[in-house]
Amino acid sequence: MADLTLNEAKKEAASLRKQLKEWAQAYYVKDAPQVEDYVYDQNYNRLLELEQQFPQIVTPDSITQQVGGEIDSEFTKVVHEVPMLSMGDVFSKEELTEFDARIQRQVGHSVAYNVELKIDGLSLNLEYVDGELKRASTRGNGLVGEDVTANARYIADIPQKLPEKLTIEVRGECYMDKAAFAQLNQERDEKGETTFANPRNAAAGSLRQLDAKVTKQRNLSTFIYTWVNPPANITSQHQAITKLDELGFHTNQTGRKLANLDQVFAFIDEYTSKRDNLLYGIDGIVIKVDDLNLQNELGATVKIPRWEIAYKFPPEEQETVVHEIKWTV
Ligand code: NAD
Repeated sequence: MADLTLNEAKKEAASLRKQLKEWAQAYYVKDAPQVEDYVYDQNYNRLLELEQQFPQIVTPDSITQQVGGEIDSEFTKVVHEVPMLSMGDVFSKEELTEFDARIQRQVGHSVAYNVELKIDGLSLNLEYVDGELKRASTRGNGLVGEDVTANARYIADIPQKLPEKLTIEVRGECYMDKAAFAQLNQERDEKGETTFANPRNAAAGSLRQLDAKVTKQRNLSTFIYTWVNPPANITSQHQAITKLDELGFHTNQTGRKLANLDQVFAFIDEYTSKRDNLLYGIDGIVIKVDDLNLQNELGATVKIPRWEIAYKFPPEEQETVVHEIKWTV
């Protein structure tokens, strides 16, 4: 990298952007990835590195400046007044230590983190008016998503009506658990249909159906973890999740409020070993500054909030082997 000239960096970045856009379109829009996530991540991180080294080569349409893929589906469009962002990621405890050091430098003291499992699904936005579900939408490109209200009405754990007449917007992950995924792929295989690459793509392909009755047959679930602009008495992420749970949303009960990085590392170790025994897929651990005022203070870039980070698990051995076999036959 140190030996690269500006022109070489420009050329390499342009070719990486082209390739990454193609993969992102297949992944986000067609729900049919062409490569494994770690391959995408390696190329994405190489582009990030080049853009960090040569900031003058960053273009506004670079994939590092945009969320998700292009919206070119037939769903009605939904404008997200509060953008649905992506998330920064780290792949080692050293990088996580750097994240913590940056937060401490920015806010001037140590902070508590709410640490949650990173559910391997797709983001879902739910809007309630006077306690009734009015609209559900996907993240799309972060600013404009797709209206999937009819589909969301067929997901059993999404409350159609809240116990209080609240007008609120909440966000979470729509996912397919491992058993539903195995059954769906078996059925598709028996019918000679193409199978889904992983539960994330199965969930996305099942939610983003123009015929909502298909969604009904697919056994999707949700974990809700974000309250957009919560009332003033909710001051932390941990509190928000507790209240969302009381309101009847399906929340993930493994999340914990932790006082320091050593405890975060212990949580990561715990779920790295428990991961395979969970009923649903996770691809990492999300570390969020717990205090909502501090979250606002830290803010976000055009693509990622500065107050949270995903610690990504290394690719699973088995997946890598399957991938290589597919490519060699
Ligand atoms: P991301 O999936 O890495 O992280 C952000 C998302 O995490 C959020 O939008 C949210 O939906 C989700 N999430 C799950 N649990 C959460 C929790 N507890 N709290 C908050 N958010 C939670 O980011 P992204 O921008 O959606 O996509 C990047 C990922 O997609 C990378 O892992 C990349 O490998 C993969 N991808 C793969 C391909 C491919 O071709 N294989 C192409 C594009 C992207």
